[in-house]
Amino acid sequence: MSKNDGQDEQQRAPGRLTIPFDVGAACRQGLVESGQAPLAALPRCRGMAPPDGVLTYELRFSEGVGVHPLQAEVQVSAPLSLECARCQEPVICPVSGHSTVSFVFSDDQAGHVDSDVEPVVLGREGRIRLIDLLEDELLMAVPLMPVHEQACSPLAETLAAGQAYESGQIDESVAGGEAEDSPFAALAALKKGPDEGK
Ligand SMILES: [Zn+2]
Repeated sequence: MSKNDGQDEQQRAPGRLTIPFDVGAACRQGLVESGQAPLAALPRCRGMAPPDGVLTYELRFSEGVGVHPLQAEVQVSAPLSLECARCQEPVICPVSGHSTVSFVFSDDQAGHVDSDVEPVVLGREGRIRLIDLLEDELLMAVPLMPVHEQACSPLAETLAAGQAYESGQIDESVAGGEAEDSPFAALAALKKGPDEGK
């Protein structure tokens, strides 16, 4: 590895995440994989990646009993840049997901796994790319209605106030009096002025 590789690493997942992986062997060994990868390296999550956003992950493979014994615990967490459901401005949400996945070999088998596990259909030769597992888990964990935890931005509040004005809420409160302060009253006074001078 030369020093020049450093720059590209921001955009690249570690090699062991992208190379098709022998799931059966990993489960029999009880393999544990944990680490971090740049969010920008996950093609399906790239659009939600804040600058320098990092995915933290842990995969624990195990071989259980039953019809589909190949399993893994998948845990992911990452900050995602989403759109606030209240003000439509960007909001950075800490997102985390945790699932037990059950590896199967056909769509038909996938329909018959326990309801508390996620079926994952393995490709040819029982292999899968770990990055696909991590991406699936993260995408499932994206909140449907992300909002700013504290108040939304001042700009958003101004926009919200503008909507209240359009709906007439503010008009009614002003209509209580002070008619002489309205632009129309001032205009009427101006028009009257010259006539009165005659
Ligand atoms: Zn907001």
